[in-house]
Parts: sequence; structure tokens; C-alpha cells
Amino acid sequence: MSLPLSEPKLSTYDDVLAAAQRIEGIAHRTPVLTSRTADERTGGKLFFKAENLQRGGSFKFRGAYNAIARLPAEAKKRGVVAFSSGNHAQAIAYAGQLQGVPTVIIMPQDAPAMKVAATKGYGGEVVLYDRYKEDREAIGRRLSQERGLTLIPPYDHEDVIAGQGTAAKELFEEVGPLDMLFVCTGGGGLLAGSALATRALSPECRIYGVEPEAGNDAQQSFRSGAIVRIPVPATIADGAQTTYVGSKTFPIMRALVDDILTVSDAQLVNTMRFFIERMKIVVEPTGCLSAAAAFSGIVPCKDKRVGIIISGGNVDPRALAGFLAG
Ligand SMILES: *Cc1c(COP(=O)(O)O)cnc(C)c1O
Repeated sequence: MSLPLSEPKLSTYDDVLAAAQRIEGIAHRTPVLTSRTADERTGGKLFFKAENLQRGGSFKFRGAYNAIARLPAEAKKRGVVAFSSGNHAQAIAYAGQLQGVPTVIIMPQDAPAMKVAATKGYGGEVVLYDRYKEDREAIGRRLSQERGLTLIPPYDHEDVIAGQGTAAKELFEEVGPLDMLFVCTGGGGLLAGSALATRALSPECRIYGVEPEAGNDAQQSFRSGAIVRIPVPATIADGAQTTYVGSKTFPIMRALVDDILTVSDAQLVNTMRFFIERMKIVVEPTGCLSAAAAFSGIVPCKDKRVGIIISGGNVDPRALAGFLAG
């Protein structure tokens, strides 16, 4: 007998509120930065939510901590498993360590060395795989069955989405309603969570997801109305090399987001340089997606109040030097 098919439970703004309470005093309430140069370049008033300064160096700490906190005591004792190109892994390891929960992290062999080292430093057990040949989800499922671990995916999970939504919630609480919000987009967890917070706190605000030009699966999916899968894209935005958006993020994106935009790797490098030279902050390539779109003028920011979620700052110093020299 088969179970009745049911719609996946989708996250709501109430879930974002509950997540905000769980992470209160644990996740940083990251600063909102402004830059006169950025305002002059775009003609708008830009507010940068600096999740590169979040614990673990990216917004992923929010969703990871929330998802682990929601587990029953028995599952916490057995531990969790996560697969990720880096920041989710790091966040799960860190959030697990803070909550006394063992973690196993499945990472690609070519993940940035700094991210692998950081994950191990937080006490995570790292399992490497070949992302061009092996299916990380299958490896995750196998480990979860063999060892009784709970699999926490990087974006396609209600508690992860709800946790990610807390960054935009804090942004609106701090600066009030906005005309538009740009959000870095991979599998859409940050975008879906941000959209829930936006529709509750600044309903008229236009929401744009931004992904790398070379991997525009979210844009194709958004515009066609069905999830499109692509091969692993070649881009320096390693946190957005996802090949398809989630079954739980996509319906929220379709319902609440205005459009998905793309930017080139060259635009990401220029934006990274801008952040270092003008704002004195280190932002990883993926974390530059949102600002790069605002700077590109693809959607005019003139006379608008604009939110930019800077999603992370974990970039290997040597890789960073290479980007800036290249
Ligand atoms: C994971 C990640 C993203 C993409 O987030 P999704 O929830 O998968 O869309 C963007 N930027 C950084 C720095 C990330 O780590």
C-alpha cells in the first residue's frame, strides 16, 4: 500500500519568527552597512546586510542552527549529516558543536581548502566525494541509514528556509520598508526565507534573486514554471553552483519573488574589489551576487531604497589574491 501523496509542507513567516527566537543571542545580529560610493554609483540608497560577518562566515549558520535545534533529543544524540560545497557544512558543524550534536559532513574533493579546514575545526567529521561523478545525496542517504544520522540538506528543508529568513527580518526591522531587495541565490533557501520575511514586513518591496550567469537554473525554472536541472556550472561563485532549486524553495520563489537575475564572474570580481577597497570588508564571490546585480543597473536603483544581502565572506586568501590580480 502506498502512502497518499501530499504537498510538501512549506515554510511560513511564523516559522521565520520561531527561528528568530531560537537563534536569538546565538547567531550574530549582523550590521547593516551603507556606502556613499555605492549610493552615488547607483543613484539609490543601499543597505548592505553583512552576513559575511555572521558566525561561521555566512548566513548558513542561521538555518543550520535552527534545523538542529528543532530535532528531537534522540536524533540530536545520534547526530546529523550534511552535504555542501562549503558554507552549509561549516555551519552545520559549528551549530552542532554549540548544541553538543555530532556532525558528519559530505564535501566535494575540490571544495576550498579553507572551508574543509574550518569544518574540521568545528569538530565535523568530513567525508570527501567527487562531485562530477558521485551523487552526494545518495551518499548522504546511505550514511543516514547506516548510522541513524538525520540528513539536513543545505536549502530544501523547512527549518533551514525559516532560519535563513531571519537575516532579511533583521534588515527590515533595522531600516524599515524597502523598494527592492537583492538576494544571492543557489538552491533558493536564502531567497525563499527572505521572501517570507519581505512579504510580511515590507509587502510592496520587489524581490530579486541573483545567480551566476553560467548557472542560471533558477532563472530558467522561475521563468518556465518548472524546476530545470543543469550540469555543474563553471563559475567562481562556488556557493551557487547548485544544479537545481529545491522542491520546497521553488513554490515560495514562484509565489513571492519578482524575478531572478544573473551576473557574470567578471562582475563578481569587480564587486569583490569594491567591497575591499571602499567598504573594507571581505566578501566571497557568491556573496557578491546581490550587490553585483544592483551595480549592473539591470534593474535601475535610482531613487530607490535598496536592500542587499551579502551572503558570506569565506574566501581563501590565496584565491582572493588570484581573483584580484587576474
Ligand atoms: C549557500 C550560499 C548561497 C546560496 O544559498 P541558497 O540558500 O542555496 O540559495 C549564497 N551565498 C553564500 C555565501 C552561500 O554560502
